[in-house]
Parts: sequence; structure tokens; C-alpha cells
Amino acid sequence: MLQRHGPTMENRLFTKLGAPAKYHHIIDWEHFKIALKKQNPVQRARTTKTIHQLWPTASVMEDRQEGRTNICLRCHQKSETIAHVYQCQSRMAKSAFRTALNQFRKKLQKMHTSGPIIQIFTEFLLVHHQNRTPKAPAHNIGNKKSIQYVRMAFEHQMLLRVNIFHLGYISFKWGHLHKMFLDNHKKLDPESNKFNDPQWSTKVIQALWHFSQSVWSQRSSQIHKKDPELEESLFSGELRSSIQSYLRLPRDTLSRNEKALHLNVSKHLKKAFPTTLARWLKLLAEERELTIRSKRNDRIASGGLQPLTKFFRWRAPSEKGN
Ligand SMILES: [Zn+2]
Repeated sequence: MLQRHGPTMENRLFTKLGAPAKYHHIIDWEHFKIALKKQNPVQRARTTKTIHQLWPTASVMEDRQEGRTNICLRCHQKSETIAHVYQCQSRMAKSAFRTALNQFRKKLQKMHTSGPIIQIFTEFLLVHHQNRTPKAPAHNIGNKKSIQYVRMAFEHQMLLRVNIFHLGYISFKWGHLHKMFLDNHKKLDPESNKFNDPQWSTKVIQALWHFSQSVWSQRSSQIHKKDPELEESLFSGELRSSIQSYLRLPRDTLSRNEKALHLNVSKHLKKAFPTTLARWLKLLAEERELTIRSKRNDRIASGGLQPLTKFFRWRAPSEKGN
């Protein structure tokens, strides 16, 4: 993670995410780095994509001119940015989010995380999903001292932007708080099987990465998996309808190449796979562009230049009326 020259990776990443640089030290980098080190190369590549926000969303694909539309195929309302993948309020997206959140909470419970911490972590993730400000921790979560510590950790995390929490950028205070809760528990119940795991923070960070990846992978399978009722995925359905809008163009506006292309595409449209559909859509768009451009050139050649030649035409002095 650290670079030998220039600014550190962490600093650059942090600035990119829009988090205030003066709070850089709040992040539990120690466990962040251990968490990365513990992953195999495949997992690490996936994590890098997650924490650098490199998912190929519809709006990213549109920018690369590989996509058809930047609109989210699950809600058909908003542009699908990375933030929208978490914030989409369609039925599908909500269920994906819930599944990922429940997995995350189960992991925390297995790691003997205390209730108040799970509650606050859940709130942070929900806040991002619902795009609202977080509620402060409740008052009925333990004794006076623990309430105070919970609040301190909460406010520490709040100094960072809440919407980077799900990427594993957690305050180092959570680790201290977790240990404190477990030590208390041990005092009250020495027979308890809840042991303090020194890797707790590392595991929380990994669980957050897993949460984010689960939100993304569910999104992708919802978009690319065939719907048994429609026998088609959202993605290929969208491609097919974009293709059909080209095929509806009046025949006399088409060039010869376009006519041939349209004929071929409509013949095989029903059986084509998504990759073929995407390729056809690109071809149709390119061919349309060429036709429009050549028509525009024709118009300029046939009549558009006349006013220009008239303007520059040499006129004999007598014509001026002298
Ligand atoms: Zn959406």
C-alpha cells in the first residue's frame, strides 16, 4: 500500500474519496493493511476494485462509450453511479442490500461484537443506503461509561464521511471499544466463552469489503441473470429495446449499408446472446452516424456552399452602380 516516492497511496485514495485529509489519521490503517495482506491475489484484486470504486456501472460504461444508457436498469429512474448501486430504492436493490447487511451483521455476531457496536455499524450502512444523516447512538445501551465511549467512537467515525465506512475506512477507536466491552463482559462472567480476538478490527474491515462486494455481485446477477418469467435479463432486454428503436426508423432514411444491417439484425434478433446484441447495437449506432454525416455533406455540396460563393464573387465596378 505504501509507495516509496511521492505521496502515499492512502493519502491519494483518501483525497479521491473526498474525505477531509486532516482526519486521515483517524482511519485504522494498521488493520486495513493487515486485512489486505491476508488476502490472496484474486481477493486483493477484487478488494482494490471495491475500495477504488472501479465497478463498471452503467454510467462508467457510458463514459467509455461501451454502454447504451447510464440509467439504472433496476429502477429506470436514476443514473447508475457507484453511489447509486448502494442507494437504489428499487425492490431488487433493496433486497440485495438487506441480504448483504444481514450477512455482515451475522459475521459481527460470530466475532462476539457487542450489541451497541453492531447497532451503530448497521446505522452507518443504512445511512448510506437511504442517503440521510445518521442518528446518534441510543441512550439505553449499557452503563454510563460505555455510553460515553460509544458516543466518542461514533463521533470519531463521523469526522470522516459516512459514505466511506462501507469501504472499510473505520476509526481505530472501534477496536478499543470492542476490547473494553469484552473485558467488562469477562469481569461479569469469567466463565464466558467470549474471548478477545486481536484480529477483530481486521475482520471487521474484511467483512465490510465483503458487504460491498456482495451488494455489487447481487446487482450484477440481477441485471445479467435471466428472469424466468421474461426469459431474458434486464440487460439483454434493454439492449433489445434499444436495437428495436433503430429498426423502427423509416426505410427511406436508411443508407444501403444500414438496410442490409437492419435486415440481418432483425432476422436473428430473437436468438442472439447479450454480447452479440451489444455488438449489433454498436454497429447500428456507427452506421447511423455515418449515414447522417454523409447526408449532411451531400446537403452542403448541393446547395449549402452557394451563399459563400456569392459573397466572394468578383464584381465589376459598374455593377456597384457608379
Ligand atoms: Zn436504481
